[in-house]
Amino acid sequence: MNQRTHTWLAIRAIALLEDSNGPTGLIKILKDNVKGAAIGCWIPDLQDTKKGSGDIDNHILKMKPYQGSNRTRFIKKRKELFDQLGQERKVCEFLGDRDSVLDAGWWNTPYKAEPSPGQHLANRSMALSTTLIDQLILGDNKVADLVPGTVKFSDKLDMNARSRMEEVAMYCFMLSHFVADACQPCHCDARRLSAYNNGLHKEMEAGWSKVVGTYFKKDNYLQNDDTPTKVLMESRVIDNKFDIEFSNNVPDL
Ligand SMILES: [Zn+2]
Repeated sequence: MNQRTHTWLAIRAIALLEDSNGPTGLIKILKDNVKGAAIGCWIPDLQDTKKGSGDIDNHILKMKPYQGSNRTRFIKKRKELFDQLGQERKVCEFLGDRDSVLDAGWWNTPYKAEPSPGQHLANRSMALSTTLIDQLILGDNKVADLVPGTVKFSDKLDMNARSRMEEVAMYCFMLSHFVADACQPCHCDARRLSAYNNGLHKEMEAGWSKVVGTYFKKDNYLQNDDTPTKVLMESRVIDNKFDIEFSNNVPDL
């Protein structure tokens, strides 16, 4: 996915949290740093991180029909899946309107990804989100003021070892990159048509990028002097161009 689409998705998620009266401390950490930390949602695609989060296996989870044993374990009935995701999610709404696209044959086929052990999109997202919780627990005084509860051993830590708001925000933006990649169908589909240069993947992402427009394009975005409130407002404006209406109710998982 292109940088500006990643940026829009990450910032739109913060605006959604704000619109749904989400956790005020987390919103403040993200919103106050929406400018400086936004590069976090491009980092995983940058060449210099190829030995870290940028390793290509960390961006994909290629599912394919599974022929091995215990096949029923890898079939999830439509209703069960939708219930788990939350019926109000856009993906459920989308599939609900297009009932005939995924027929019974699709729903009854077991699908599984066979990634390198410990290394795939879900692992990477899980590792990062667990680390983020630690970062919030071990935050400096500014972070601690925004996180509910007290951490008894915080004052024993070297102040320089405690995480700063900017750092927490940047890693949240990185997490956004991986969540967005997990929702890009070509990242999760092992068929050849999903390969980057096979006429679909690249073109789909270029199409999204065009709709997102130029406000979140790297050079424009980093050079503007807009306030965080204005930046979030610009992210909301793009909903119309995708013909999406969010419900301001972020479903729990
Ligand atoms: Zn990626």
